[in-house]
Amino acid sequence: MNRFVAAAAISLIAATAVQAEVTEDMLANDQTMTHQVVTNGMGRHLQRYSPLDTLNKENVKNLVPAWAFSLGGEKQRGQETQPLVYDGIMYITGSYSRLYAIDVKTGKELWQYDARLPEGILPCCDVINRGAAIYGDKIIFGTLDARIVALNAKTGDVVWRDKIASYKAGYSYTAAPLIVNGLVVTGNSGGEFGIVGTVQARDVNTGDMVWERPVIEGHMGTLNGEESTMTGTLNATWPGDMWKTGGGATWLGGSYDARTDTLIFGAGNPAPWNSWLRDAGQKNDGSGDNLYAASRIGINPADGEIKWHFQTTPREGWDYDGVNEVVAYNDRDGNQRLATADRNGFFYVLDAADGGFVGATPFVKDISWAEGIDENGRPIFNEENRPGDPSKAADGKKGEVVFASPSFLGGKNWMPMAFSQKTGNFYVPSNEWGMDIWNEPVTYKKGAAYLGSGFTIKPNYEDHIGSLKAIDPDTLEVKWEAKNDAPLWSGVMTTGGGLVFYGTPEGEFIARDDETGEKLWSFQTGSGIVGQPITWEQDGEQYVSIISGWGGAVPLWGGEVAKKVNYLNQGGLLWTFRLPKQLAAAN
Ligand code: CA
Repeated sequence: MNRFVAAAAISLIAATAVQAEVTEDMLANDQTMTHQVVTNGMGRHLQRYSPLDTLNKENVKNLVPAWAFSLGGEKQRGQETQPLVYDGIMYITGSYSRLYAIDVKTGKELWQYDARLPEGILPCCDVINRGAAIYGDKIIFGTLDARIVALNAKTGDVVWRDKIASYKAGYSYTAAPLIVNGLVVTGNSGGEFGIVGTVQARDVNTGDMVWERPVIEGHMGTLNGEESTMTGTLNATWPGDMWKTGGGATWLGGSYDARTDTLIFGAGNPAPWNSWLRDAGQKNDGSGDNLYAASRIGINPADGEIKWHFQTTPREGWDYDGVNEVVAYNDRDGNQRLATADRNGFFYVLDAADGGFVGATPFVKDISWAEGIDENGRPIFNEENRPGDPSKAADGKKGEVVFASPSFLGGKNWMPMAFSQKTGNFYVPSNEWGMDIWNEPVTYKKGAAYLGSGFTIKPNYEDHIGSLKAIDPDTLEVKWEAKNDAPLWSGVMTTGGGLVFYGTPEGEFIARDDETGEKLWSFQTGSGIVGQPITWEQDGEQYVSIISGWGGAVPLWGGEVAKKVNYLNQGGLLWTFRLPKQLAAAN
């Protein structure tokens, strides 16, 4: 053998070894590579649609448990993770910043990583985690003390770790990271502490920061260790120094639209909640809009520059945030579109090219703060439903109380909706609730809650808060609705077999008919479901997984909603179901 042949043989061996690692191609084609799940959202467009149709409307009644895995630990808290499946291993994250590697065939634990969390972390809304990201030979996740850690996917050994921001200033981290072109892209949490939302991109192999893009006007971005450009124009839409602690937490992470090579991140509420402090002129002419809080932002993944923005709630004053996931899809005419169901109660369709407004419709009943959305996508404010200005109150301490709907937990919160390529519809987990809300004076103090607001949350209807809705994004019609007593807080998944999967706080994991909404199958998981379902194919059979473990933001708030959830048991079980081959054909 001459040395050229030998070299070729060695490189062939190297190539074979590399194939066992997760590649950019696998991430890009996650939706169609149905034997594995390597992205949050079952595709970076976040459609949460699997083309698998072995499991269908006729045989779903034969879906049975394959195994269950307990997360253990004394403190059972909300389990919001989406599992990943790769090379025989399922990866999940758990409450208190834990990560588990599990044999996907048996449910046996392979290894577990527990992040060592310091005293004094400030997670606003339970100690949850929404999932990991996988690339190369690494599994990567963020922790409650606002750090990011990359582990060897086979052994769980730490490869690198880095600090996203200071937990002492109120920062934390709970979202699944997003990996695009060798960059691991993260947001941050802490919008109730006067932090500043940013998006950061690191080299996935080393953890070195490549760029950072703050999402509040006036802050400077960085690229390769140098200042790059300012976000927006200083003081264009923020008075004085308020932008310096302006909020806009990018706490839910982002999506990636490969069609336009654009990262899309949402920015949460402007800080503080008391909107009168951020709207000096009170002219409703854009000068008090507080960009880019409560907005979706299109970002160039190569350099972190902002391509476009779409603000759902200018001058936001109800904690409607603006972070809900943006799903990239094609409508029935083949137009490239983006859709998002905002906490403010409106479902928006945007043009994928530039984030331009296409249409909007209410997806919950009884929206009180706006009459509707105008032709430019801007809300038509119902001014008397804005919580009153405390500086105009007789005592100067408590502004006029208003009943506003939806509540601060939103028409839809973090729990991801799904798009079906089969029906062309979206399936939106929504909640019908409102709140008494009022404003108070507040000043910024590092590491302290920065709200200037008080609230009491209330159901809008006696018989339900939760409502899963099928929405046609082309006609903006609600096609069907499935009500639920307690508020929905789990993700949704659709399949080529015509099924819509989601879970309830009451513990049921449910499959519905994607066209009629009829309940076709359900399984009682023993605790409330606030996790995110996945499906994949293994040994010629279709599998479905969901984590069960009640918690998240809902049980932390009292009000009249507490009555609907305070009897629910906590837990922490990952359930995996399969359709046995011999039952796939049975009706
Ligand atoms: Ca918020």
